[in-house]
Amino acid sequence: MSAPDVVVVGAGHAAIQLAASLRQGRYEGSITVINDEAGLPYQRPPLSKAYLGGHMDDAALALRPTSFYAAQNVGLIEHDAAVSIDRARHSITLASGAIIPYGHLVLATGAANRTLPVPGAALSGVVGLRSLAETKALKALLPGLKRVVVIGAGFIGLEFAAVAAERGIAVTVIEAAPRPLMRGVSAVMSDHLARAHRGWGTTLLTSTGVKAIHGTGRAEAVETADGQIIATDLVLVAIGVISNTGLAAAAGLKTSNGIEVDALLRTEDPAISAVGDCAAFPLAGSGLIRLESVQNASDQARALADRLLGKPAPYAKLPWFWSDQAALKLQIAGLSGGHDHTVLRGDPAAGAFSVFCFKGETLLAVESLNRASDHMAARRFLAGTPGITRAQAADPSFDLRSVA
Ligand SMILES: Cc1cc2nc3c(=O)[nH]c(=O)nc-3n(C[C@H](O)[C@H](O)[C@H](O)COP(=O)(O)OP(=O)(O)OC[C@H]3O[C@@H](n4cnc5c(N)ncnc54)[C@H](O)[C@@H]3O)c2cc1C
Repeated sequence: MSAPDVVVVGAGHAAIQLAASLRQGRYEGSITVINDEAGLPYQRPPLSKAYLGGHMDDAALALRPTSFYAAQNVGLIEHDAAVSIDRARHSITLASGAIIPYGHLVLATGAANRTLPVPGAALSGVVGLRSLAETKALKALLPGLKRVVVIGAGFIGLEFAAVAAERGIAVTVIEAAPRPLMRGVSAVMSDHLARAHRGWGTTLLTSTGVKAIHGTGRAEAVETADGQIIATDLVLVAIGVISNTGLAAAAGLKTSNGIEVDALLRTEDPAISAVGDCAAFPLAGSGLIRLESVQNASDQARALADRLLGKPAPYAKLPWFWSDQAALKLQIAGLSGGHDHTVLRGDPAAGAFSVFCFKGETLLAVESLNRASDHMAARRFLAGTPGITRAQAADPSFDLRSVA
């Protein structure tokens, strides 16, 4: 039986890893990637870090060089969006009107910025940071900015705040939750990062909502729910993302927080899979979950490639993540949600430590700040057995590599 022609909607980390892994596994069918953005598929993490800060050029952003697509026989359709799926005929229709038949369809549509539901959110000067086009526009504005307001103290908001503060821009971050990165990290790590940002001159307002953005034509001030008016030259809205599920939902596929898939990353249509930021998948201990990380997008793409190459296995990779904020390199292995106890290793005052997050005696996650060796060890011992106890984690003489 010949290999089915694979069509991938989306051209981010998941899509390009899938194409590369399929060819690495000697997949013989055709592979076509549909990209609604113009240009070569690119990495997103540097957008809010090195690229925005001027430490990385455009060429270095590419996920793969131009030569990869020709050499690996991967078709890339640029600047054209998939607008509908005909599941009966096994084809998709693009915005240009082109109809592309598929043997197996992969939805790797990623996510889109959540918009802020307040008056003034559509003013010019209210921007997001997800695509290269948005980042280029923002980067061009940076030299002329004296003050910025960032709405949302998640990873992207804080990374942007660090870049802006480094350039001498007065930054105010407004966060509705009581602490930054509330969903992503432990209170210990979150408090440390809050202190660091304040130390760089950033005003960090927590437990504060936004009521409106004011300005004549363009954003000039942000009004908080408790009545503060903060004058600004630009507003970055970084309040999270929502999965791009529209195409799947319109085709009758099950969607909730994401496009729902099983442990083999299949939708309920055996000819359609979903991977990466757009997919809600079952993860042991977490139910149906959607993760937004390069690790998740890449590992799911590899797992799907294995299945399409005839080696199916339930997806069960350990989640891990990183974030760079100025000189602070945060790395997280595992998911800390639901932890009830933390153990500290290293010295926060010296700016290098790890937080071990336990639920009872079970280690859920390790957050490392400027302690890459802890992170690498944690990735190994969280992915397998044996585990590590609270007493071992708390013992500075205990060698993590001995369990890893
Ligand atoms: C600024 C920023 C910083 C980040 N930093 C980190 C980090 O430090 N570490 C980390 O692990 N993760 C980070 N992430 C998250 C990480 O980039 C994402 O998890 C990853 O990009 C997900 O890959 P993906 O392929 O699933 O989706 P995406 O990379 O979002 O790609 C999806 C693509 O599909 C396209 N698309 C959508 N619908 C259609 C359609 N109908 N037709 C055609 N194309 C379509 C989209 O335009 C997009 O190009 C960051 C994200 C951002 C935005």
